[in-house]
Amino acid sequence: MASRRTPSAKDLSRYGVLAEYTRKRDFRITPEPPGRPGSRAGGRSPGARESRGAREFVVQKHRAGHLHYDFRLEHDGAMLSWAVPKGPSLDPAVKRLGMQTEPHPMDYNHFEGVIPEGEYGGGTVMIWDNGTWEPESPDVGTALAKGQLKFRLHGKKLRGSWVLVRTRGPRTWLLIKHRDEHASSDDLTQTRPLSVVSRRTMAAIAKAAGATARQREQAAGTDPERARSAADRTRARCAG
Ligand code: MN
Repeated sequence: MASRRTPSAKDLSRYGVLAEYTRKRDFRITPEPPGRPGSRAGGRSPGARESRGAREFVVQKHRAGHLHYDFRLEHDGAMLSWAVPKGPSLDPAVKRLGMQTEPHPMDYNHFEGVIPEGEYGGGTVMIWDNGTWEPESPDVGTALAKGQLKFRLHGKKLRGSWVLVRTRGPRTWLLIKHRDEHASSDDLTQTRPLSVVSRRTMAAIAKAAGATARQREQAAGTDPERARSAADRTRARCAG
């Protein structure tokens, strides 16, 4: 085994808000994108694109130790991140727990594949939804500091008005749908289970990336029955 890179605190400070992201990963092993050094997250200014309101958002379905949905919002050149174990709910009566995790690089929004076993977050990652978001709170930094960020999503699955509210502790938040025309009792984790970029199931993503048998079984276990049987029919058609 090659010895692990052990960057010093001084090295990592160059990565700004991506220091924790960088510290947790060995980019010689994981296919995840590295953070770039810079005073801001990706070394790029948040600038014009963000001020025009075209902030990116992504939701990544991730079968690591446990299944969760990583909900990420672009802010100041990085992706603020919350791990939502049950995934977003369109029902305004349902509050979904979201544990805030380390900011991710913007490049992460395009990552779909498998993190090797033994690496941080080892398991299958799907781009479950993406699009743009706009704040409904007047100042995003202030709203985050106060622990209540209201926003609007323009995704392929998630739309309309939402709120993130901080509860006990600095990292514990609730993700809640506001009442509007996009509220629904439909459980999108079950009815819209495929990748928005590749139309693949978790099982297909794991297989294509050459995941271990155990990772493939775990990935497949998170696909709803209906998606699994549709994939089986496709395979039967190709074989026949
Ligand atoms: Mn994750």
